[in-house]
Amino acid sequence: MGREHAGPEDVGPEVVVREPAGRSYPGRSYPGREHAAARPSWRCSGCGAPWPCQPAKLALLSEYGTDRLGLLLYLATRMIDAAGELPTSVNVVERFLAWARRK
Ligand SMILES: [Zn+2]
Repeated sequence: MGREHAGPEDVGPEVVVREPAGRSYPGRSYPGREHAAARPSWRCSGCGAPWPCQPAKLALLSEYGTDRLGLLLYLATRMIDAAGELPTSVNVVERFLAWARRK
């Protein structure tokens, strides 16, 4: 009758989650801010090129650094917005995502 052991159950080693050092998030000020998408044309409000223009791409790459997944998620969000506003002849996957894929 009764239990022989009333102690706490075995607990595995604690999992430590670290924040990556130097990580930053877009939305405030970043170098390519003037190269923003004008909607619904999806042309750059800074240089008039189809967005994301080259300066915007460079700014995004430096903004996200090694966080390629974060960059792709951001671009996918923009792509979904754009897909509803651009002509169907525009290949939005190619335009928004292809350049950012890991090589
Ligand atoms: Zn631009």
